[in-house]
Amino acid sequence: MILRLLIAAIITLAGTSGLPSEYIDSESVDLSHLQRDQDDELPTRVYFEETGQYLEDEMLEFWLEYGGVNVFGYPISAPSTSDGMILQYFERTVLEYDPDNSSEVQVQLRHLGAQAAGPSMFRSSAFEPGETTSDGAFEETGHAVGEHFQRYWERHGGIPIFGFPISAEITANGKTIQYFERAVLQYNPDKPRDWRISQPLLGLETAQAKNVDTSRQQRDNDVAVYSDGLFGQGGASSDEPVVYLTFDDGPSGTYTPEVLDLLYDYDAYGTFFVLGQAAEYYPDLIQRMVDDGHTVANHTWDHPQLAGKSFAEVEWQLKETTRAVGSAMAPCMRPPYGSMDSNTRTWSESLGYEVILWDVDPRDWERPGAGVIADRILGSVFPGAVVLLHDGGSERSQSVEALEIVLEELSGQGYRFEPMCR
Ligand SMILES: [Zn+2]
Repeated sequence: MILRLLIAAIITLAGTSGLPSEYIDSESVDLSHLQRDQDDELPTRVYFEETGQYLEDEMLEFWLEYGGVNVFGYPISAPSTSDGMILQYFERTVLEYDPDNSSEVQVQLRHLGAQAAGPSMFRSSAFEPGETTSDGAFEETGHAVGEHFQRYWERHGGIPIFGFPISAEITANGKTIQYFERAVLQYNPDKPRDWRISQPLLGLETAQAKNVDTSRQQRDNDVAVYSDGLFGQGGASSDEPVVYLTFDDGPSGTYTPEVLDLLYDYDAYGTFFVLGQAAEYYPDLIQRMVDDGHTVANHTWDHPQLAGKSFAEVEWQLKETTRAVGSAMAPCMRPPYGSMDSNTRTWSESLGYEVILWDVDPRDWERPGAGVIADRILGSVFPGAVVLLHDGGSERSQSVEALEIVLEELSGQGYRFEPMCR
C-alpha cells in the first residue's frame, strides 16, 4: 500500500552543523530495512490546502516514507534551488535534495537541531560529549538516544533522518526534549498517543528568519489534494481489512507492557478483557491502555465459569471489575472460558455489557511455540475477525512473540487493527 523505496543514503554529517568538528564524522547508512511495498497508482504531485503549497516526486516520497505531517509538518514554501541543491521548507524541518547525486534517493534534513541548540547550549552539561557512560551512547557525540525517543527515532529513520543525539534528555515542566543534529524531539506525556512525540517548528522559524517566501500558491485543477487517506495513512479507509486483536486475563506486569509496546510500534489498537483483581493491582497499565487508545473490557473479577452461577454472582463479578477499572470500562464483557448458560447473555446485557466472543482461537495457552500460534492465526484470519490471545494469567512470552509475527505479517498485507466496543 505504500512506496517501496530502497534507499541507500550516504550521509555526510560534517559541514553545515554548528557542531564542533571533533563530534562529527562521515558515515554510510543503509536504510533498506525501511523499505515498503510499491503502489504505482499514487500521485506524484499533491497540493496542500493547509498551506497552499505543492509537494512532488522525491520530496513527496521522502516525506511520506518517514512520517509525513507528524514528523515534518506541512510544506510552507515552494522548492528553491541553492548551490545545485533543491531546498524546501516545512513547518518542522528543511529538506534538501541533491539531483546530481547518483545514489537512489538523496534527500536530507538540514542540521536545524544543531542550529537550534546553538553554541551557547553546547556549554551546558547536557551537551558535553565525553566518555560513553550511558548505555547505547554514540562515540561521535557521547550521547545516547533517550528512552522516550528510542522507538520513534528508530521507526522514522534513525541517524540518517535525525542525526546523532547531541544532548541528553532534558526535562522541564513535565516535558522532555532532546537535541539531535537535524531535529529536536519533544515528549509530552499528557498528549494523546499519536501526538506525544513532536518536533518544534524549526523549519518555520528558519523560514521566517531568512525571509523565505511562504505565500500560498494557486491550486492547479488537475492536481491531487493531500488528505490523510490519500496515501493510505491515518485515514479510516473502509476497504482496508480490519482485525480485532483481543487480550484476555491481564493485566500482567510482565507481558502487558510488551503487548502495549508492540501495538504502539505497529500503530495497532486492541481490546483488553481484564480481570478485576489484576486491574486493581495494575492501575498504571489500565491507564496506559486508555492513553494508547485501546479498549478496556470486562473479563470478570477472578475468572469463574459463569454457567450455572446466580444473577447475584454474575452481577458481583462484573460490577466489582468495573469498580476496579473505573470510568475507562467499555460496555463489553467476555465470559471466562466462553462458559455461558441460557441466562449469561441476558443478565450481562441487563447489566450493560454486550457479550463478545471470538472468531480465531490459536490456543496460545497450550504454549505450542510462537511460530505455531502465529501460523494458527494467520491461517484462519479474515477481514473483520476477532482474534483471541492472552496477556496475563500465566507465562505468555510465546503469545507476545506470536503477536509480533502476526502484526508484521498482517500489516504487510494491508490489515489495520482496531479496538472493539467503540
Ligand atoms: Zn480468560
